Amino acid sequence: MLVPRVRDRSLVEERYDCVVIGAGPAGLSAALNLTRARMRVLVVDSDRPRHAATMVSHGFLTRDGVPPHELRRLAREEVERYPEAEVLRRCSVSAIDVDPDAESSTHRFVTRVTGRTPALSRTVRSAAVLVATGLRETLPDVPGIRGFYGMSLFSCVACDGYEMDNRPLA
Ligand SMILES: Cc1cc2nc3c(=O)[nH]c(=O)nc-3n(C[C@H](O)[C@H](O)[C@H](O)COP(=O)(O)OP(=O)(O)OC[C@H]3O[C@@H](n4cnc5c(N)ncnc54)[C@H](O)[C@@H]3O)c2cc1C
Repeated sequence: MLVPRVRDRSLVEERYDCVVIGAGPAGLSAALNLTRARMRVLVVDSDRPRHAATMVSHGFLTRDGVPPHELRRLAREEVERYPEAEVLRRCSVSAIDVDPDAESSTHRFVTRVTGRTPALSRTVRSAAVLVATGLRETLPDVPGIRGFYGMSLFSCVACDGYEMDNRPLA
């Protein structure tokens, strides 16, 4: 992939206080609080959350039993209510550079955002970058296991143990 050089100033336009990578519960919580601290925040998300494997999310106060995509939608709405916040969906961060020529410590991070089309791609500057890209599990090499994961096969007792009471566990 071609990543623009830091010195190509024409490609470095917008400035933010913080770029948050990932719009799951972690990234959006951070973005909400940064925004409320009057910071200009860009959230970039590739829309591949870990809990997409399950139909229902549990244990989050006020949102126990909601589908994960609904939890994220509500959280996004709360963040986007603030004019200081911007959320880019179906975009991924492909490179982060530190500008060695930056005069001060402000806006020295140069982040390359890759969208679905070149028009949706951009390069931005920020004073900070917060990485909230979540985890990705490595499932055992069992044929067809993906089809069961999050439906009848679970990895987290706190998330799904209650519903599995008195039933066989894997
Ligand atoms: C089967 C299953 C059931 C679960 N059930 C529950 C439950 O009931 N309750 C609960 O609290 N938790 C549950 N979890 C755990 C849940 O996944 C985590 O609590 C939650 O998703 C963690 O949030 P996060 O923001 O850290 O990461 P994620 O939600 O995974 O978000 C990370 C985001 O970062 C994005 N990203 C990654 N790399 C880039 C990049 N380079 N550029 C841009 N974006 C990027 C991803 O697309 C993703 O959207 C479950 C998980 C699984 C697998």
